Amino acid sequence: MTQIFCIANQKGGVGKTTTTVNLAAGLAKVGQRVLLIDLDPQGNATMGSGVDKRQLKQTVYDVLLETATVEQARVRAEKCGYDVLGANRELAGAEVELVDEERREKRLKAAIAAVQSQYDFVLIDCPPSLSLLTLNGLCSAHGVIVPMQCEYFALEGLTDLVNTIKQVHANLNRELLIIGLLRVMFDPRITLQQQVSDQLKDHFGDKVFDTVIPRNVRLAEAPSYGLPGVVFDPSAKGSQAFVDFAKEMVVRVQKAEKVSVQA
Ligand code: ADP
Ligand code: MG
Repeated sequence: MTQIFCIANQKGGVGKTTTTVNLAAGLAKVGQRVLLIDLDPQGNATMGSGVDKRQLKQTVYDVLLETATVEQARVRAEKCGYDVLGANRELAGAEVELVDEERREKRLKAAIAAVQSQYDFVLIDCPPSLSLLTLNGLCSAHGVIVPMQCEYFALEGLTDLVNTIKQVHANLNRELLIIGLLRVMFDPRITLQQQVSDQLKDHFGDKVFDTVIPRNVRLAEAPSYGLPGVVFDPSAKGSQAFVDFAKEMVVRVQKAEKVSVQA
């Protein structure tokens, strides 16, 4: 079954886009068919996959307004091994343009359904807000991956996101789950980060992924070359961690499928 995951956290700069492009590249590397959807008008996941957002004729904006299908608007990120449904600044207007439309929060879900069988994973990079765009992401997904830095206010920030996910689950998408929390930009030398990491595990148990993504400058450099770190420098510690994360994801999904077959 196709796994559709949102990468979300209402904070900016926490590593959502880095996680989306590198998980996509990592999954592609281990043989998975991946569609990346950029739901952020900044278009960083698009550019970070080597797709020039300014050159795109059609984007996720057209898909949301139902003037294009995913099949028409997606492009291949050749070097990365996955498909991209890109975004650019135009997407910022979608929010307003959709306000009076019917099923406005389920547009993306309907569009994905038409191509879903062509992919093992659909990864949706969400903007840093709980907007109609993010809502479209959450309504489309089976689960949410939450990248987070192990900082003092990390747990507090989670409360809003968890509440939103609960509300979407109750009202719009009964399938939606928190798949897990991913510790990113981790520096084990910082005692506070270790402490927050331990707290996260106490609170959330096996909802915390085993893989930890270290702070690694190669991951930060990669976007300026239009590549995920995993492709730009596969031997970098951060890149290896993302490939490990992709493998962890595949194993989790297989386990979950086994359970549901037995049930
Ligand atoms: P978001 O999408 O949540 O706004 P980004 O993925 O764009 O966050 O990350 C914010 C900044 O942090 C970017 O400049 C990115 O290159 C950098 N960054 C993300 N993850 C790492 C990491 N593991 N190590 C070093 N820098 C990172
Ligand atoms: Mg981003």
